[in-house]
Amino acid sequence: MGILEVKNVNKRFGGLQALGDVNLSVAENSVHAIIGPNGAGKSTLLNCLVGKLIPDTGSVMFDGQSVLGRTPYEINQMGISRVFQTPEIFGDLTVMENMMIPCFAKRDGAFRLHAIAPTDDEKEIVEKAERMLEDMNMAGKRHMPAASMSRGDKRRLEIGMCLAQEPRLLLLDEPTAGMARADTNNTIDLLKQIKDERDITIAIIEHDMHVVFSLAERITVLAQGTPLVEDTPDNIKGHPKVREAYLGE
Ligand code: ADP
Ligand code: MG
Repeated sequence: MGILEVKNVNKRFGGLQALGDVNLSVAENSVHAIIGPNGAGKSTLLNCLVGKLIPDTGSVMFDGQSVLGRTPYEINQMGISRVFQTPEIFGDLTVMENMMIPCFAKRDGAFRLHAIAPTDDEKEIVEKAERMLEDMNMAGKRHMPAASMSRGDKRRLEIGMCLAQEPRLLLLDEPTAGMARADTNNTIDLLKQIKDERDITIAIIEHDMHVVFSLAERITVLAQGTPLVEDTPDNIKGHPKVREAYLGE
């Protein structure tokens, strides 16, 4: 049993069958990539995992519990955190201020971003945010406005903000889309570091095969809303159906 078990999930948008009988099992502490051509249903599937969309039929189990019928907030509290296709950070706030938000979100009660006499609770949040920035190798950028950073650093901050929520499953939707090669390689290194240092499962939707083959232990190929094949990277590379459907051969 995987930490994430998707069974027979179907999702229609009017006349369009975006997902047709999707089955997916993601093993705990693995990196599992979902690839497939544009419009294959990858983002739709991810949205069904985080409560943004509700499947028409089928089941989605996380750590033995159904996520269906729960709100995105409740699913996040269960331990699933998601990185969006475009970075979702507050550009006018500094890097540190951004990082304090998820550190605070785990708690109840009011929080003052720049309290002159911080409470013990507030001190703890500041310390956690500082620790997270160090883990992300961003401590030196803590006072920079988030908007002024490179695409790669924005992504790094956003991934750090997700990790501050202490998820057991991290979902990423095309985290390197639109990035220059250097930023892409930085993101690959960061995800490798996260995988090595943390007890975490990563499911990544990705277009860039260099990223997929650098990180994934299992790959599911989605085509027209249905899994075509699921296998190891080596087997996927040579799979005739994949070459035909995805690599255009
Ligand atoms: P991918 O992420 O693999 O590129 P998507 O999951 O975004 O694919 O889309 C799958 C299909 O569903 C596409 O044909 C897309 O146009 C359609 N689709 C996605 N979201 C919606 C929506 N909210 N309403 C109608 N159609 C949608
Ligand atoms: Mg998509």
